[in-house]
Amino acid sequence: MSDSEKAERHKKRMQRKEAVVDASIERADKEKGLLLVLTGNGKGKSSSAFGMLARALGHGMRVGVAQFIKSRTDTGEEAFFSKLEQVEWHVLGGGFSWKVQDLDKDIALAEKGWETTRPLLQNPDIDLVVLDELTYPLKYGWLDTDAILADIAARPPMQHVVVTGRGATQALLDAADTVSELEDVKHAFRAGYKAQRGVDL
Ligand code: ATP
Ligand code: MG
Repeated sequence: MSDSEKAERHKKRMQRKEAVVDASIERADKEKGLLLVLTGNGKGKSSSAFGMLARALGHGMRVGVAQFIKSRTDTGEEAFFSKLEQVEWHVLGGGFSWKVQDLDKDIALAEKGWETTRPLLQNPDIDLVVLDELTYPLKYGWLDTDAILADIAARPPMQHVVVTGRGATQALLDAADTVSELEDVKHAFRAGYKAQRGVDL
């Protein structure tokens, strides 16, 4: 095949592809508040959620963040976003012990955290809610999955919700509209590099 035939064939193929893509874009004309779940062992779950937060803020939307398991209070995202007027930011973790003997305390803390979070899901002025690391209280049974999913389902129709954390349960995955699983291909931590400012915190 000559170069010009090759180029012509490539052009035809691309045109067919474009027509297929255009047709599916045309078909996807619905709108609603989406539930997104970012899970898996790879890095990039919370930072992706905060990327969406930045997008939403860029469009003048109002956002809420609830961080369920939080081991540090010096993250760049909190420093950057939480001072903005359009952002409501709650840190709910910190006290989780992960020790078997403290289960009652963890349950009480998670329940208190959800009481703080629920108003975000009832507020039609908030366009996007990030529930960072909510997968853990669900996975460990500190919160009742059915009740949490019911609260999420009852949110204002155009409000988006992003849940992050490893080990998302099947019920959460089933409820979600979009799910991404971050794969841990490689992480600098295993080569001995500590968490780096601007990258990991
Ligand atoms: P990020 O906030 O960077 O998007 P994440 O939300 O996907 O990370 P978490 O499980 O919440 O991941 O862990 C938060 C911290 O742990 C970050 O500092 C992150 O770089 C680090 N981390 C994430 N995945 C791994 C991994 N596979 N091995 C070691 N450290 C990790
Ligand atoms: Mg995270």
